[in-house]
Amino acid sequence: MPDEVDLANDLILNEVSRALSKIRQSSSAEQNGSDYCLECGDEMVKERKKLGFKLCVPCASETERRKSLYADD
Ligand SMILES: [Zn+2]
Repeated sequence: MPDEVDLANDLILNEVSRALSKIRQSSSAEQNGSDYCLECGDEMVKERKKLGFKLCVPCASETERRKSLYADD
């Protein structure tokens, strides 16, 4: 099933990016109050942070996409 392979790859990528963002956060969060995406660790637009978002735009849309994918399970 190609779908299962894709899913597995997705999960692995997710874990890797999570681990990477944790590493990046631990060094950068202290410096300026974590204006960084929780998912990829990239710096976020300040306006977005003020609005209470914890993910950058690409990660947020990716999360939404995943949610809608799994919603039908
Ligand atoms: Zn991100």
